[in-house]
Amino acid sequence: MPGFEVFGAEERKQVNDVLETGVLMRYGFDGMRNNHWKAKEFEEAFAARMQSNHCQLVSSGTSALTVALASAGVGAGDEVIMPTFTFVASFESIMMLGAVPVLVDIDDTLTLDPKAVEAAITAKTKCVMPVHMCGSMADLKALKAICDKHNLVLLEDACQAIGGTFEGKPLGSYGDLGCFSFDYVKTITCGEGGGVITNNKQYAINADQYQDHGHDHIGNDRGAETHPHLGYNFRISELNAAVGIAQLGKMDEILDLQKRNYTIVREALSLVDGVTFRRVPEGGIENYSFVNFYLPTQELAEKAHKALGGAGVEACFYWFKNNWHYINGWEHLRNLKSMQPLSTEIKEQMQDLNSKDFSKSDAWMGRTISALVKIGLTKNEVEERAQMIAKTVASVLS
Ligand SMILES: *Cc1c(COP(=O)(O)O)cnc(C)c1O
Repeated sequence: MPGFEVFGAEERKQVNDVLETGVLMRYGFDGMRNNHWKAKEFEEAFAARMQSNHCQLVSSGTSALTVALASAGVGAGDEVIMPTFTFVASFESIMMLGAVPVLVDIDDTLTLDPKAVEAAITAKTKCVMPVHMCGSMADLKALKAICDKHNLVLLEDACQAIGGTFEGKPLGSYGDLGCFSFDYVKTITCGEGGGVITNNKQYAINADQYQDHGHDHIGNDRGAETHPHLGYNFRISELNAAVGIAQLGKMDEILDLQKRNYTIVREALSLVDGVTFRRVPEGGIENYSFVNFYLPTQELAEKAHKALGGAGVEACFYWFKNNWHYINGWEHLRNLKSMQPLSTEIKEQMQDLNSKDFSKSDAWMGRTISALVKIGLTKNEVEERAQMIAKTVASVLS
């Protein structure tokens, strides 16, 4: 997955353009910047690549989620439906706005179960946030039908699945808004950065203003701009945006390599009796950043994961017991351990996550192992890695 594996001369050239002028900010200083507008340039190229009308670049994937939610009017007391398997940024971005995360089960796609989503809708629900984990997507068709029926915002977190598609559309462009992360370990990186895409003009204007203190960005005098609404600072720097331009230029090559390397690992694992694979919803094409597979039981998955570590196979993840990606590891969320007082709405409306039954999610997550698809390896090295993974898993199953 990581774009840092292909960091090189192109990224250095882009950053040097900025360093030569010293204009590290994306706005203003027109006379000094030698016509370099890296953030703007990235936004235009990214919107085009994602077949979307608008892109707003921001400082991280987490801020992209926050800005997207705020732009769609999600705030205090509004409920946002999100999956039990995701990155902590999902609930962080929701709670940052005083909104309430509602966690629901995943299914064999390892993403939101549409039936569980529908069952969780209340009068306060405003948004459904599917998270396309580990390279593959939620059933967007089913989720869109639910959102249309109940008049909800569909916000795709595509941070881990950039380049995948659903019904021919780039992931992130199918819903009302899509979010991406360009942090250091993502498919393409800015060092730190994130992006929001949308075809909704009002959301785009809102995102542009919200990420920069509410500035209206009208005219050439930053000091004279007015503030139609309250905002915040989620801006990206020109240096980070510059790195992103070079990485975006390499994205299709990265995706091709991911697919090649994924296929080698997947084919080796397909020959192992007892191994099955995560379901990809009909109409979806993965970005191939992980090979996600199931073992017959949780016990065998734990054993296989340990054996892979013991055999020195790197970057095979067992999310069920990891601190970042599954509700099991979120003791701080379950017990609302906040440094500062939380909003009344959050305190009153939050589910009791310690007693809530997520056994359906447990049943899939307990059996899941994800092997990261690396792009910096040669074909031979990937073949060796594939054989090691298959051999080790087979030894546990025999
Ligand atoms: C990485 C990631 C984020 C957050 O992105 P940052 O840029 O690290 O803030 C959000 N959601 C998912 C699914 C991610 O993988």
